[in-house]
Amino acid sequence: MDTKSHKQLHIFFFPYMAQGHTIPLINMAKLFASHGVKSTLITTPLNAPLFSKAIQGTKQLGFDIEILVIKFPTEEVGLPQGCESGNLATTTEMKEKFFKATFLLQPQIEQVLDEHRPHCLVADAFFPWATDLAAKFGIPRIIFHGVGFFALCATLSVLLYEPHLKLSSDSEVFTIPNFPVEIKLIRSQIPAFIKQNAETEFTKLFKAARECEEKSFGFIINSFYELEPAFADHYRTAFGRKAWHIGPILSWNKAANDEASLGQHKSLNWLNSKKPNSVVYICFGSMTNFIDSQLLEIAAGLEASGQGFIWVVKREKNDKEEWLPEGFEKRMEGKGLIIRGWAPQVPILEHKAIGGFVTHCGWNSILEGVSAGVPMITWPVSAEQFYNEKLVTVVLRTGVAVGVEQWSTFVDVKKEASVKREAIEKTINQVMVSEEAEGMRARARVLREMATRAVKEGGSSFADLTSLLEELGSLGA
Ligand code: UDP
Repeated sequence: MDTKSHKQLHIFFFPYMAQGHTIPLINMAKLFASHGVKSTLITTPLNAPLFSKAIQGTKQLGFDIEILVIKFPTEEVGLPQGCESGNLATTTEMKEKFFKATFLLQPQIEQVLDEHRPHCLVADAFFPWATDLAAKFGIPRIIFHGVGFFALCATLSVLLYEPHLKLSSDSEVFTIPNFPVEIKLIRSQIPAFIKQNAETEFTKLFKAARECEEKSFGFIINSFYELEPAFADHYRTAFGRKAWHIGPILSWNKAANDEASLGQHKSLNWLNSKKPNSVVYICFGSMTNFIDSQLLEIAAGLEASGQGFIWVVKREKNDKEEWLPEGFEKRMEGKGLIIRGWAPQVPILEHKAIGGFVTHCGWNSILEGVSAGVPMITWPVSAEQFYNEKLVTVVLRTGVAVGVEQWSTFVDVKKEASVKREAIEKTINQVMVSEEAEGMRARARVLREMATRAVKEGGSSFADLTSLLEELGSLGA
């Protein structure tokens, strides 16, 4: 794009404090900066070092990107000091306090808007108050949901038509009403916060987030048109939403070369010694931490499958690891690798040795799997993940479902092992080596090419980003 033809726009990006929300918004700010925008990311002290590291490469390339730090009101709501990320709020009570704290950020955002007078505020959907605040300064507020068109449409349909109210049991099947394709779910897969009547901090937040949608300037969607065309159209026409799809945003990461240092990560070196498509990658995102009995089932399923694996587990190394079968790591030496903590997911998925991805269906993970051309074993847990599973297994047909029937909160997930080893073994082999595997892999490869094209000049996401910047530029910025 000819960036010089724009007056320099200054955009504030305000991500919600949880990795699944933060990562794409940081990448979005970098993408905008690479198109000549002055991008300012707002965050809190605990999160700031991660932001600084993430934008380093973009700054070095000479793009205009900065960070503004505001205080997170932990004390005001009774959270422990430093609990500035949703991932660190590990109990229901802490999560409730965390949601409450995010409403208290408003005066500080007002202050920085007043001081810096940007031309636009892109804020996460979890900051519903940002719309009225932006209006106070006469600037557009754009919502970032962090999910794709399919899940946005499914959520709106379920909210509008309430199909679950017509069902008599949790196991009863329903079809998503007024939807471009026939999608069946069971009642227990609908998020509890949609079904329950009791008011919590989260239901209040969810309601406020819906209510501010129509007053906002529009939505930036981290997706690309070719991935979900019927749903991108449906969102705009049936629901009348003004949306720009500009993804997959992660592609910018590769260009910015921020992750060069990850080349040394042991998992990537380990993968270099493996045959193409011979390793399955297992990771459940940043929030899900299963109980020991579920991890034991995963270990047993992996071993029985006979496939190579990289398994990311959010546990520290210690002497007594009761979540692993006796002698597991010794037996799996050379065959499988366990990463305790944070894995470099994008480069792992893009490695040619990776042939399958067991995913909790977080939207970022789905997009990363799609962009890497990797078929998936879907294991949804919470949020909108059960809808994402249907996109992969029914619409795109690039994955198989492990068979989860119950939506959980990230806290509930610690209560029981719902997926058994046999299902894990079976679905891993279905995706890695069965007759259907080749078809899934071929479809996944086509999507990867489409994703790559979408963000290049002439691609659908590039075009939408250009038109958004033009529209913002024409607002008198
Ligand atoms: N992620 C990662 N390493 C990990 C776990 C997660 O890089 O060990 C990244 C992953 O690549 C994705 C994000 O964290 O970009 C998780 O977002 P997603 O929407 O998939 O799930 P959530 O964490 O929000 O449930």
